[in-house]
Amino acid sequence: MTFNFDNSYARLPDHFYARVAPTPVTAPKLVRLNRELARQLNLDPDWLSSPEGVEVLAGNRIPSGSEPIAMAYAGHQFGQFVPQLGDGRAILLGEVVARDGVRRDIQLKGSGPTPFSRRGDGRAALGPVLREYLISEAMAAFGIPTTRSLAAVTTGETVIRERFLPGAVLTRVAASHVRIGTFQYFAVRRDGEGLRRLADYVIARHYPKAAEAEQPYRALLDAVVKAQAELVPQWLLVGFIHGVLNTDNTSIAGETIDYGPCAFMDAYDPETVFSSIDYHGRYSYGNQPQIVHWNLVRLAECLLPLFSDDQDKAVAMAQEAIDAYPEQFKSAYEAGLRRKLGLFTAQEDDLTLAQDLLTAMAKNGADFTLTFRALSDASADLAQDERARALFADPAVFDEWAKRWRERLAAEPQDAETRRKAMRAVNPMFIPRNHRVEAALAAAVDRKDYAPFEELLQVLTKPFEDQPEFAQYANPPEPHQRVLKTFCGT
Ligand code: AMP
Ligand code: MG
Repeated sequence: MTFNFDNSYARLPDHFYARVAPTPVTAPKLVRLNRELARQLNLDPDWLSSPEGVEVLAGNRIPSGSEPIAMAYAGHQFGQFVPQLGDGRAILLGEVVARDGVRRDIQLKGSGPTPFSRRGDGRAALGPVLREYLISEAMAAFGIPTTRSLAAVTTGETVIRERFLPGAVLTRVAASHVRIGTFQYFAVRRDGEGLRRLADYVIARHYPKAAEAEQPYRALLDAVVKAQAELVPQWLLVGFIHGVLNTDNTSIAGETIDYGPCAFMDAYDPETVFSSIDYHGRYSYGNQPQIVHWNLVRLAECLLPLFSDDQDKAVAMAQEAIDAYPEQFKSAYEAGLRRKLGLFTAQEDDLTLAQDLLTAMAKNGADFTLTFRALSDASADLAQDERARALFADPAVFDEWAKRWRERLAAEPQDAETRRKAMRAVNPMFIPRNHRVEAALAAAVDRKDYAPFEELLQVLTKPFEDQPEFAQYANPPEPHQRVLKTFCGT
């Protein structure tokens, strides 16, 4: 089997990365292969699950055409600038062009130390690998831009965290692994040539239209701003909290990347934080739009030297690009809220209507996902209101809101069944509920029982279908099941 690698990043200058091979592991074992994704990448799933294929997925064998590298990058972590981060436990095997014509990175995560490991062991524990697998694939099933998971293997080795844990390697697939932090790496070194090479690379790979613009680098910034302004609303609309929105975890291609202590909220509350390391709620659910805006400003600062030799002119260009974000974010978020409420046309008060629902949900502990799912059915059948109102501590608050909503729906041109279908296609029945995720990981880590992981994954690949046999997966946690903290496990 061949991968048909075509490694464009490895052709960039030497100081963009370190050439380093994965460190072999003692006893690789495949625990999950994404056969469908393999096919999309023109890879043979049968070969990937063969002993030879598993050796590749574990980093024990370098497939032909691979040029393993660890990418260099910097980044602001919780607001603090770190001039050198880089792939400390990830190795890019190479790039392939997938069936959709898009070039994708194939990267091993947890594949051993690199020159960027600092004090880390270069390894990953099984729990976080399965968590990334589950959540990235759930995001893909929602239709949200994200890195994907091709495979998870256990290494037969132990990693030391708060306790001894089974080691694992995740094979991650991404449109690219260029981050805002990658630009920061060159900018902080005042490496103008490196910066330009990187910008040209990103334009060619992700935003080819920018090359035709009058000011290609400005067009690049515009494109990244737009991609992020469209990504973040999609997180909010499914209740996703990334958890570590550092600049090194912000993808230039506009994909959700680096699943650490990420989580989905159950009851709607914009202040929700799960990450055990996010002491001040910097990366809370509701802060995400502003944080990504802040991250984009860091990118804009890096690009200044490419904009113009005239500092004032460069700053003005950057400012203009950055200032587009709030409006673009707002319009994508509002459009998404309208879809969630079954509104196909736009009226001025729609946002007030949506906001009033969210406020009522927050005050009444209403489950975010279940409320919108119930609304989808209630939009066509008044009797279904019961499902929604039962989610509110004070059901009368819902009734009052529902009355206004129905008046608004009456002004919509669609028939009820069309609307119901459209709403069900944007309001998932299933999300990766934290208690389910934790239970699936615990079963795998503590008992080598992968059945709960497999079942949860299966449910999450069709999040918009009712799947009555798995109805219990839609339920929020019982009080004793509630997960209050999530861990990145690095
Ligand atoms: P993350 O929090 O996963 O985004 O990682 C932040 C930085 O720490 C990146 O440079 C990672 O490569 C590095 N890192 C995280 N875990 C490890 C580890 N176990 N060994 C080496 N480097 C790591
Ligand atoms: Mg990271």
